[in-house]
Amino acid sequence: MMTNQNVVTHEVINTLIAVAASISNSTALPSATVPESMAVLGGFWGLPHNKNLVKRLEGAKVSAWIDSMRASSPTRAKSESQEKRSWILYHPSALNTFEQIVCSAKGKQVVVFLDYDGTLSPIVADPDKAFMTRKMRATLKGIARHFPTAIVTGRCRDKVYNFVKLAELYYAGSHGMDIKGPTKSQSPKQGNNNKAVLFQPASQFLPMIDEVYKILLEKTKTVPGANVENNKFCLSVHFRCVDEKSWAALAEKVRLVLNDYPQLRLTQGRKVLEIRPTIKWDKGKALEFLLESLGYENSNDVFPIYIGDDRTDEDAFKVLRSRGQGIGILVSRVAKETDASYTLQDPSEVEQFLRRLVEWKRPSTVTPTSV
Ligand SMILES: [Mg+2]
Repeated sequence: MMTNQNVVTHEVINTLIAVAASISNSTALPSATVPESMAVLGGFWGLPHNKNLVKRLEGAKVSAWIDSMRASSPTRAKSESQEKRSWILYHPSALNTFEQIVCSAKGKQVVVFLDYDGTLSPIVADPDKAFMTRKMRATLKGIARHFPTAIVTGRCRDKVYNFVKLAELYYAGSHGMDIKGPTKSQSPKQGNNNKAVLFQPASQFLPMIDEVYKILLEKTKTVPGANVENNKFCLSVHFRCVDEKSWAALAEKVRLVLNDYPQLRLTQGRKVLEIRPTIKWDKGKALEFLLESLGYENSNDVFPIYIGDDRTDEDAFKVLRSRGQGIGILVSRVAKETDASYTLQDPSEVEQFLRRLVEWKRPSTVTPTSV
């Protein structure tokens, strides 16, 4: 009767961490007591379809997420210098190791995948004002001239397009559930490869997402600063402007709404809770889908570079790790558990890294080929 234990193991480890965290700080959601948590674990193994148990499990996870969000706020991240030093050793800066990276990419087709918020644009209080710099846009234009390039985001595809405004890119919105190819040729050489890919694996969920959006708007309006964003195939509840004291209450409100919708699930991002269909689709699957549509399904001559700052980007880092292809780069100033191999500190370092990629690819005008 048990489901594949290997698949569950990772989830169980996360749950153990979540349960441990909720025991150490049980003020956030007091319902997560020790015996109950153990019952949740047993239930998760033996009765994977028991809705209540799974929901309580999500409660423990949400509380652990709030703890980790508190822990990574800048005022508390100072005493971690030693931990950070060893982390940097295993996840070196992609700028310092640039030569090594391009050396392993040599002779292969580089494909660039980029998250948007916190990667190309800084995290700002109002998600509607997460603009990227002019410099970043110019660099992105250069990147798209040399490499197939995709923006992979939790946001609505149209919204992120309005921020980026480059028709030569691929856009995978709603965590990859809404994929569209370039509407403009990337370069004269690539002109004929422009199939306008369009893929929406969760379209039947649209009415339900819309319904939950309206309910969440209503239920969260009593929490000052709470912001619900409709990303078409998924929803985001932003905590960026909510007082830390109200985080647990807001998370609980969201969880209660979700109780009535077993076909939707909650995932956690940077100061955001995301609601999305339970279909097995994520940024990692979007990456695989895009590589396939570019014709690199079984190719060894491809070198995907994925840059992102969020927990949802980990699905893409995992895919690259298991394919043994390309590299994942995590954008973070603090040590974090990640499947990425390299790091960059912030969007301005992302811009520098991308600019160096463009310079690497651009035919050199300084060194003449014949003297
Ligand atoms: Mg992000």
